Amino acid sequence: MNSIVERLKEVRSQIENACQQCNRSPDSVQLLAVSKTKPASAIRALYQAGQRSFGENYLQEALSKQQELKDLEALDWHFIGPIQSNKTRDIAAHFAWVQSIDRVKIARRLNEQRPNSLPPLQVLIQVNIDDEASKSGVAPDEVAHLAASIAQFPQLTLRGLMTIPAATTSAKAASESLSAMQSLYSELASQYPTVDTLSMGMSNDLAPAIAAGSTMVRVGTALFGARETT
Ligand SMILES: *Cc1c(COP(=O)(O)O)cnc(C)c1O
Repeated sequence: MNSIVERLKEVRSQIENACQQCNRSPDSVQLLAVSKTKPASAIRALYQAGQRSFGENYLQEALSKQQELKDLEALDWHFIGPIQSNKTRDIAAHFAWVQSIDRVKIARRLNEQRPNSLPPLQVLIQVNIDDEASKSGVAPDEVAHLAASIAQFPQLTLRGLMTIPAATTSAKAASESLSAMQSLYSELASQYPTVDTLSMGMSNDLAPAIAAGSTMVRVGTALFGARETT
């Protein structure tokens, strides 16, 4: 059986290969380990192998793992799940990044609730690039408006965009979605100097996402194995 550390090496080498294919430097793509439903012990094992950034979708689950892992230094927690208003206070206090901002109301609450003792929350706007009813995120033509609001909030730093493309589309449709994200992202980056992150690509589409300019891939299954519940 593959150990989790071997799977980490495997995923890192997939990232390096994908970068090589499109003449990008391997350190231009960060790896976010998506640990939802997985135990704190698995996170600890990856941490010991050098992984520092972890993504969680469910607040209560994340808070209890953070508690178990509070002896680990310089661990970056990213909130990547849908956000309800009544969760913003804890999210603002316990995460370094939030990748799933999809409305001004949530951004405003996170800004107000981010403790002054912490650096600004690093945020990404989630884009529903394939216009799926089941997914959160703004439509592409709403990005500019939400970005302009976020830019006015002192406790938030706008870092870029996140997307989860549709799982079932053809290769051609998938590549059109990835390049639509790439254009949206470069437009945003040209307007806001703090924008440097395009969070795109998961276990099954790392390479095409990297070819389309992703700077952060979010990998769960390929690192931790399949999840029992989705
Ligand atoms: C679960 C999840 C992932 C990881 O997906 P895998 O296919 O397991 O790699 C990435 N991003 C988000 C937002 C997720 O919810």
